Amino acid sequence: MKPEGEPMDAASSEALATILVVDDSRTIRRILSNALLAAGYAVVQAGNGQEGLDVCRADHPDLVLLDIDMPVLNGLETMRALQSDPELAGIPVLFLTARTSGADVAEGLGLGARDYLRKPCEASELLARVQVALARRQAEMELALKAQELDDLSTTDQLTALGNRRRLDVAVSQLRARHEPELPIGLAMIDIDRFKVINDTMGHLDGDTVLILVARRLRSAVGDDDTLVRWGGEEFLLLRVKPGADSIAETAEEMRASVCRWPLAVGIDLVVNVSVSVGCVTGVLADFDALLAVVDERLYAAKEAGRNCVVGGA
Ligand code: GH3
Ligand code: MG
Ligand code: MG
Repeated sequence: MKPEGEPMDAASSEALATILVVDDSRTIRRILSNALLAAGYAVVQAGNGQEGLDVCRADHPDLVLLDIDMPVLNGLETMRALQSDPELAGIPVLFLTARTSGADVAEGLGLGARDYLRKPCEASELLARVQVALARRQAEMELALKAQELDDLSTTDQLTALGNRRRLDVAVSQLRARHEPELPIGLAMIDIDRFKVINDTMGHLDGDTVLILVARRLRSAVGDDDTLVRWGGEEFLLLRVKPGADSIAETAEEMRASVCRWPLAVGIDLVVNVSVSVGCVTGVLADFDALLAVVDERLYAAKEAGRNCVVGGA
């Protein structure tokens, strides 16, 4: 026997879900709220569409039960406003209305509603449809999370945990989509000096450890808004948006200095002195590919100049 007031089994897995009931009839709000509360849901109420939107923005309910004919802002207008707000568009909406023609149902569903219930609606049907909509939303969110995890994995370099070349491609594509071609950018290409010798003398595994340690030093020399990726092998690339005057050259110098400041502790009683050479440049987004060629040339010039140095800047 369950103690009185305990949520029904049907909703126990959704016990914390909050449902917003939007209806201009106080009586209907009370009936719906009582049925939902008895099933274990938390309930908030609004008397018209505008109030409903305000509650959505403030409380982010898990589901909205939405009437259509209401003063101030009707249900269809409310639905459009919810859909056009990226923060709220994911909240499942179930219309619950006395507008019952097929055309009404089609219009409501066409706006993106999860379901369309006709008044009067029996409590058992209402609860079943609410539960289905909540379960579907939950499944969607889990899927989106998985997709995000996979996406992160596919743009991460497994050895150094920095981004990989694909992460840079994504960052550049997003910049191109969101900014003018004249967006100022800065690039720095960093290459470990004589890394082949490190591999040859210490072995490939210790070489891997050197790569990890160098990546960490580079990471701590750049800002949170910078994109730093492993470009390949023992090369890294830094992309900075809107670099201030000289900032790329200064950061390039800081990266160089931070790598050779102290020997790297590769293992017990095993330290190694490592240095990097850096080529850097500033320009605009539209010239990204040409700027890549420039940092590559400047990196080569830094190698020619004796390594452990920076070539380029503004
Ligand atoms: P330079 O100063 O001119 O850059 O000389 P370098 O020896 O660093 O350059 P080179 O291109 O001759 O050698 C790079 C080496 O990096 C060769 C390659 O085997 C090694 N390497 C590339 N990727 C990895 C990796 O993931 N792990 C290890 N341990 N070595 C790698
Ligand atoms: Mg090298
Ligand atoms: Mg190289």
